[in-house]
Order: sequence, then C-alpha cells, then structure tokens
Amino acid sequence: MDSRNFSAGPGALPAGVLAQVQAAVGQVPEVGLSLLGISHRSDWFRAVVRETERNIRELLGLPDSYAVLFLQGGASLQFAMIPMLLLRGRHKTAEYLRTGYWSAKAVAEARIEGDVRVLWDGETEGYRRLPKADELSCSPQAAYLHYASNETVEGTQFHGVPGRDDVLRVCDMSSDFLSRPIDVDKYDLIYAHAQKNLGPAGVTVVILRRELLQDVPTGIPAILDYRSHLAAESIYNTPPVFAIYVALLVTRWLRDDIGGLTAMAGINAAKARCLYDVIDQDPTFYQGRAAREDRSLMNVVFSLPSFELETDFLHRATQEGFAGLEGHRSLGGLRASLYNAVTLPAVEDLAQLMREFRRRA
Ligand code: PMP
Repeated sequence: MDSRNFSAGPGALPAGVLAQVQAAVGQVPEVGLSLLGISHRSDWFRAVVRETERNIRELLGLPDSYAVLFLQGGASLQFAMIPMLLLRGRHKTAEYLRTGYWSAKAVAEARIEGDVRVLWDGETEGYRRLPKADELSCSPQAAYLHYASNETVEGTQFHGVPGRDDVLRVCDMSSDFLSRPIDVDKYDLIYAHAQKNLGPAGVTVVILRRELLQDVPTGIPAILDYRSHLAAESIYNTPPVFAIYVALLVTRWLRDDIGGLTAMAGINAAKARCLYDVIDQDPTFYQGRAAREDRSLMNVVFSLPSFELETDFLHRATQEGFAGLEGHRSLGGLRASLYNAVTLPAVEDLAQLMREFRRRA
C-alpha cells in the first residue's frame, strides 16, 4: 500500500504520477516508444527539460536572473562542486552551519577545497536544535554561508533564513524543496536532489544566480562546471531521462492538483501537526527529538522508552501496511517522513495507530 509510505527518501510519489509513469514505461503516446528508450537528444526530451524548468520557475517565482540546472551525482556532488565554484583560489573563508548529519558532510567536502569556518556546531547537543540569529556571528568577508534548510536525519528545519544578505547564501534544500514557498531573493545558490519531494533518485536541481558564473576558477573538469550544463540546457551528457520526466509530472501535479506551494505548505503543516500533537500529548512515551521551535515539518523523528517497544511498534505498523518508519541508521529510533506526496489521511491513520499503540502498551 504505497499510500502509507513514510520513507525518508527515496520517498512516496503521488499515486496519479505513478500511474502516468507506469503507462509511459510502456509507451509515451507522443513518441510511440517506451520512456526508457527515448533519446535524450530528441525534441520530445528537450521539451520535457524545458517544461520542468518552467514549472519550477513558476512554482518558486524564480526570475530569469537565476539559472536552473538538472544534474547528476546527488546532493553529495554539490557538497564538492559548490566549494570548487565559490571557494577555490579565492583567499576567502566559507562559513558553514553544522546542524546535523548532512550539513556535517558538506563541511568535510568543503575543507578539501579551502578554508572553512564552522560558525555553529550542534553536535555536542546531539543536533537537537538549530542556532538562533543572535548565536551567529556571520562575517561580511565570508566567501559564502552554507546551511541545510532541513536536516533529514535529526528532523530539524529552519523556519527563518539564517545569514546576512550581503554574503552569498547557499542552501541544501534536498529534504524540503518545493514543500513551501521561499523568498528566492535571499538565496544565491539552492540545490536539492529529487528523491524527497520532486521525483525519483537520479536528478539534482541546482538553482543559482547567473552572475556567480562570471568568475569560475580555471581547472574545473567540464562535467563539474556549471557552465557546461547551462550552455547545454542540462543535456551536456546523457541525463537521467526517466528521473527528469517523473519530476515533470510531479511539478504538474503540484501546480494543477495541489494548487502551488502555498497550498502545499498548508497541507504539510496540517500533516506535521497531526503527528506532533500525538507526541506532545504523551511526551514521556513518544519522545520527540528536535527542539519544539526547530521541528521539521518533513521528518518527524522520535523514540519510544525502549528498543523493545520500538521494535514492537514497527512490527505493528508493518502489519497495518505502513512502511519506512525506521530511524536513520546513525540514530535508531523512529522517523515518519511527510513529504509532499504523503497524504493527510495517511498521516491521520498513522496518528491513530500511535494512539492505539500507546493505549495498549
Ligand atoms: N542533503 C540532505 C539534506 C539529505 O537528506 C541527503 C540524503 N538524504 C543528502 C544531502 C545526500 O543526498 P544524495 O544521496 O543525493 O547525495
């Protein structure tokens, strides 16, 4: 029962999109071929890339001063490509917020390229909370500030935008991209892999101010140079045709069926409230991990009083058709991921299971 898929990623996709993908694997009507066997050089695929970009621009309200690229290598490749572009040869320091498992990985990769200052490190507090504005002394001289808007493993999410507007702001939005509207102007570079809110694994969206590309250091291999991908309209080499096509269908769904990002954000907030209410009703039994004000609307991370109870809960959940509720391997515990395609009724069913499980325990 895919509608009860609470996986942290790759995550659930809308049922209507899956049905269209299924048909397209058989045959894309406009082309008369299987989606899996269409050339990336075809006019059809060029149109797919263009429409996907157009839809993302429309959903986010992105002006033309930003480029949109579809790349491979996941968000992890961006951990490396970004300091190559913005730090290499600059004699500047990049500032990073180390707020969890994933942003810590970004720090490690940037250190290979140049000077990195960790402005705030949440590790000693178990990455349970995020920094407040007055805890950050951002330097006006920094090459850029990097942070992750949503920490998928620990279940924290920024509900404001950290940093200063006179320093480049770079954001890993992998786990909350297109889940809510954003103030695009605040960002200079945004990246997000598809496999949470946008589609299957295989494609990563990079949105960057075009002016950043004026000053690209030399010696960057073409495949790692954003300019190659921009010049080729994201068809520099063979792109993940399947993943980009599914992303196109998801952007149409977000626009036409959901009604855009403000509507999506409202649904996502209602879903998260549904689970956090259960947690807050009995916080010694359902122990939420994140500080209340920094709770993620995408990943609800919690534990139970014992490993045995957690195992029992997962067993019951599986019996009821729920999937993907195990915590990240680095933390254990439980995690319910509420990406865009997870429906409110599915979340209500999970909340109901949690309440029943508590009563019986
Ligand atoms: N950033 C975040 C916030 C993530 O959740 C993940 C993976 N779940 C990554 C980066 C790494 O992404 P990838 O596996 O696409 O390299």
